[in-house]
Amino acid sequence: MNRRRLALARTETQFVHEPEIIESPLHPISFPIYQTSTFAFHDTQEAAEMFAEQRTGHYYSRISNPTVEVFEEKMAILEHGEAAVAFGSGMAAVAAAVFAVAQRGDRIVASRTLYGGTYTLFTDVLPRFGISVDFVDGHDAEAFDCAIERQDAQHSDGNTKLVYIETPGNPTLCIVDIAGVSAVAHKHGIPVAVDNTFATPYLQHPLKLGADMVLHSTTKYINGHGDGIGGVLVGSKDHVKQARKVMLKGIGAPLSPFNAWLNLRGLKTLPARMERHSDNALRIAEFLKTHRKVEKVYYPGLPDHPSHELAKEQMARFGGMVGFDVKGGRAAGEKLMNSLEVITLAVSLGDPDTLIEHPASMTHASFSKEELAKAGIGEGFVRLSVGLEHPDDLIDDLKKALDRI
Ligand SMILES: *Cc1c(COP(=O)(O)O)cnc(C)c1O
Repeated sequence: MNRRRLALARTETQFVHEPEIIESPLHPISFPIYQTSTFAFHDTQEAAEMFAEQRTGHYYSRISNPTVEVFEEKMAILEHGEAAVAFGSGMAAVAAAVFAVAQRGDRIVASRTLYGGTYTLFTDVLPRFGISVDFVDGHDAEAFDCAIERQDAQHSDGNTKLVYIETPGNPTLCIVDIAGVSAVAHKHGIPVAVDNTFATPYLQHPLKLGADMVLHSTTKYINGHGDGIGGVLVGSKDHVKQARKVMLKGIGAPLSPFNAWLNLRGLKTLPARMERHSDNALRIAEFLKTHRKVEKVYYPGLPDHPSHELAKEQMARFGGMVGFDVKGGRAAGEKLMNSLEVITLAVSLGDPDTLIEHPASMTHASFSKEELAKAGIGEGFVRLSVGLEHPDDLIDDLKKALDRI
């Protein structure tokens, strides 16, 4: 579909169709995989113009590729942004959001409940290159204000360059007020980046709520089938241009054409999948709440979740991720995970298969004991990515395994 027409279509239609960027005389329904590293120039003048950025076009697949470009254009439309750039992983997209705006001497304020890899990047890697990160409680928009003012008071040139949030946050499903935090950041003239991996562009639109950049690990719901690693960043033309320059030209982390094609295929069914993921997750959260071996359930769709009202405001539904504390701590959690037959013990999320994992020893193993406590991740905390199986099979499996504790 014509790009402008697609931007005007309703959500489900936007997910199914692809923006027409390249005219193909054969009109394939699925955009082809341009599995090529390089593209021949017509002549030296064309080559010189492309390198001087006076002419658009593809010449090398680390910089750009037609299949990847269709995926990028589609993501820009779905997230209501000006432009998008795809990467070889979600972590590259996280790094891209940082490098689009920050450099040596700069600072970032981030919510504390974050994907483990993001936390490692922020605490271990960025400081080595002169970028420091302050963490605040994501529930408290005022805490962002205080942290920005505190940082900027210490550094007279006012060098906080980014506010970074993840909502729902991994793994405890903490909800951050995107509009509230954006208003605080913008008061200081600082852009906001949102990791929208858990919600997907079907359930939540951070740019419409006031954020400036949105990113995904496409490895999760966007690919949706557990068979390809990738990431994407959407935002203004300027932010995306800078991210492209640093992460593709400088560092070299492009999405492969094949994985772009898998993402395009995944997007076609994302709305239908998210509806089912959300249905199943709610059923399972309600079941877990009634079980005597379960201490506490974390699901923003439950009316007693502390941010249920906020989640209702900024999300269309509540998604497929559920957390819970097993009574008996780590040993009980391990017993549960080792007793399951339908549910698979694995990291990652957003697949058709239901996956279970133990953050304290797996995805969030880089957190110290104090950091785990601060992020609200207990030793008996279990994270469930609820898949597309029949919910009764999942509930039976959990029931049997809980009974064995
Ligand atoms: C998985 C994940 C990432 C990192 O993505 P990769 O594709 O594994 O590099 C970042 N943020 C969130 C919320 C994730 O779940």
